[in-house]
Amino acid sequence: REATRTYRIRRRGTFNSYNAVQAVRGVSFDILTGENFGIVGESGCGKSTLTRLLAWLETPDAGAIELAGVSLAALSSRDLLAKRAEFQLLLQDPYNALPPRTTVGRMIEEGLRIRGEGGKGLRDKVLAAMAEVGLPARLYDQLPNTLSTGDRQRISIARALILSPRLLILDETLSSIDQREQAKLIDLFAGLQKKNDLTYVFISHDLAMVRKVCTRIAVMYLGKIVEIADNHDLFFAPRHPYTKALLSAAPTLEDKPFDAGEYLLEGEPPSPIDIPPGCSFASRCPLAFARCRAETPELREWRPGAFAACHLVETEAAAAAA
Ligand code: SF4
Ligand code: MG
Repeated sequence: REATRTYRIRRRGTFNSYNAVQAVRGVSFDILTGENFGIVGESGCGKSTLTRLLAWLETPDAGAIELAGVSLAALSSRDLLAKRAEFQLLLQDPYNALPPRTTVGRMIEEGLRIRGEGGKGLRDKVLAAMAEVGLPARLYDQLPNTLSTGDRQRISIARALILSPRLLILDETLSSIDQREQAKLIDLFAGLQKKNDLTYVFISHDLAMVRKVCTRIAVMYLGKIVEIADNHDLFFAPRHPYTKALLSAAPTLEDKPFDAGEYLLEGEPPSPIDIPPGCSFASRCPLAFARCRAETPELREWRPGAFAACHLVETEAAAAAA
């Protein structure tokens, strides 16, 4: 597929949310049209903040988010509302976010109502969205409290889909669902992607799921992206020591391409309120050397399509190229 740059996140400086904790720091990456982009990391690594930035629910205090070459910051609030519909964040469970006793149909049509749509066409649009995600029409007037987690996810997907998004952001959407239901939803996502030309961002701590679904994957540590690689390279030729540590710690991943024992994660990450100078992984990195504590490694493309923020990767890439 042609690598069209469509969505771009640029962040420089700090993102001061949650009492000056730097949740996302200088993150910059492109998401390509039609791909399944994964963002992985431990809890507290900034995934959730990045999710909210991507969904444009928060604005970065430095840097910009671009959609198909348009900087969202340059839009009027009315245009922004329309544009925002193109980025849809899938709620884990809309049932919890909406007033009780909201029927399935009402839940799905909410976004259109907010947009000012109403009347006769609304029901048809909702039913069409329900059919697309595999929800039977008889659920239209039902309350979702008796539905399975999978069907509730389908409600979420229909809610997003009805707004004709281009990018769907799935925050732990396939977590805490049994394998059979997960496989069905993965098929559903693939079908919807083909039909609607969708791009997905999967944000998850579940490496086995990400390995099944994502084409490219970014690894986050302490508010920064430390590595971006395609699926095969990330799982079979990871370069960043933190990526190796993360894979080593994943009980569900077999056939690790390196000695997992060398990359056991020890100690706690530094507090995000007080990140030491240099590489933020240095305090836990088995390969740290003097430069790591003095100089912050930038996320660099060390090979076409492969990015890492690590002095060692950079040195090795330079040596290999020489
Ligand atoms: Fe380890 Fe140094 Fe690379 Fe950081 S920059 S991951 S401390 S080798
Ligand atoms: Mg989080």
